[in-house]
Amino acid sequence: MSEESPEELLKKQIENCIFCKIVNGEMDSRKVFEDENFFAFLDINPSSEGHAVIVPKQHLQVAAQLPPELSAKLAILVQELSRQMLKNLGASGTTFVVGSGVAAGQRLPHVSFHLIPTYKNKVIKSEEKELDVKVAEKVKEGLGA
Ligand SMILES: [Zn+2]
Repeated sequence: MSEESPEELLKKQIENCIFCKIVNGEMDSRKVFEDENFFAFLDINPSSEGHAVIVPKQHLQVAAQLPPELSAKLAILVQELSRQMLKNLGASGTTFVVGSGVAAGQRLPHVSFHLIPTYKNKVIKSEEKELDVKVAEKVKEGLGA
């Protein structure tokens, strides 16, 4: 039996992390935004058309680990993405969701922030829940990313 150090365990967690793989391009995603700190892509099981997942590029397990300067940048990014969703997707509003910790429904050990467009008079049917290149392109428009 080998005892693994916390550093080794974290390294192993990062190697197996789906979000790190998406950020590194090892896994495909419908990217809507990327800068030096954050990566945003369409949710694989969206709650509505354009449902975006925003992750820090750094492997941080819970929201509380986000440094204050990144929290500020995240808030600005959320505002910008919301604007794009209202303008380009015709959303009526957006909902920002952060589930931090397993008890709050966080499923992966890499914190994620969800920005979900809401639509008046628009029901998303299950067969429409396919990833849509056009939706990603529309959200991206005007973000310069
Ligand atoms: Zn990760």
